[in-house]
Amino acid sequence: MSISVSNISKLYNDQKALNDVSFEIKQGEIVGFLGPNGAGKSTMMRILTSYLNPTKGTAKVNGFDVGSQSIDVQKSIGYLPEHNPLYLDMYVREYLRFNAQVYKIDTSRIEEVIELTGLTPEANKKINQLSKGYRQRVGLACALLHNPKVLILDEPTTGLDPNQLVEIRELIRSIGKEKTVFLSTHIMQEVEAMCDRVIIINKGEIVTDKNLDDILDETEQIIEVEFDYRIEEAFLLKLAHVSEVKNTNGFIYQITFDTKTDMRPVVFDFAHDNQLKILQLSRKNKNLESLFRELTTGQN
Ligand code: ADP
Repeated sequence: MSISVSNISKLYNDQKALNDVSFEIKQGEIVGFLGPNGAGKSTMMRILTSYLNPTKGTAKVNGFDVGSQSIDVQKSIGYLPEHNPLYLDMYVREYLRFNAQVYKIDTSRIEEVIELTGLTPEANKKINQLSKGYRQRVGLACALLHNPKVLILDEPTTGLDPNQLVEIRELIRSIGKEKTVFLSTHIMQEVEAMCDRVIIINKGEIVTDKNLDDILDETEQIIEVEFDYRIEEAFLLKLAHVSEVKNTNGFIYQITFDTKTDMRPVVFDFAHDNQLKILQLSRKNKNLESLFRELTTGQN
């Protein structure tokens, strides 16, 4: 196991930030740690990186105990904290060299991580001249310097613009081909874009732990369709496998089916048989978004 967490609890004075948390992460997985703000994500990550002691329970990273073998833990982990602490006045290459020297890492690794994180065109710039997206790359490059087997990334995409977001997601996915990645986020789309598995945490407790494929498989299918005419919802309720029909706006209907079979052809046939024209039709998956809302707010 790359990461193994057993019955971890953490109290800050009398406030419980983590309550009896257990999970395991296998080598090579990219796991999203998803939860609203204040759920306990950073606390868990700081425990896993040996920066914080748990009140109860144990955790191991690459077989090393976070309490008694903190140096081995930190050697085998690359950690990108939520507020990526960079020296803004340093040049990119200089900053990486500085870190390599502090941690006694062979400087030959510097060019490798520059290339790996797509920093080559920016390597001679000062960090304060870089965009937020490129600053995150510098943080990632730094976390990868000692070639760790496990990467722990705390909210790695916060504050990025949409283009930077796409680029950093791609980068994390490609790094994840070689390494175990455990990343936290409060945005469920991040998990869908990057992860194989999701662990959802709420109020310090794990509320779900599933592979993304299983979530996509088991949840309902929603088809949003716009006809050229208003019809009774009851009409649509007669379709096979329908569990819910909502008229969301004008002639637009959201039809929920409890089957994995693609129901779009059925909706087309329905429109044809009833002399309706389809102005638009799209298939959505309620999946992770609704699961997350349901588990963290108690609402659908
Ligand atoms: P997340 O990363 O999911 O936003 P955190 O782990 O930062 O959550 O926080 C979990 C809970 O613990 C929150 O209620 C937060 O206010 C509290 N907390 C975090 N750090 C401290 C601290 N150093 N002292 C006291 N309370 C803290």
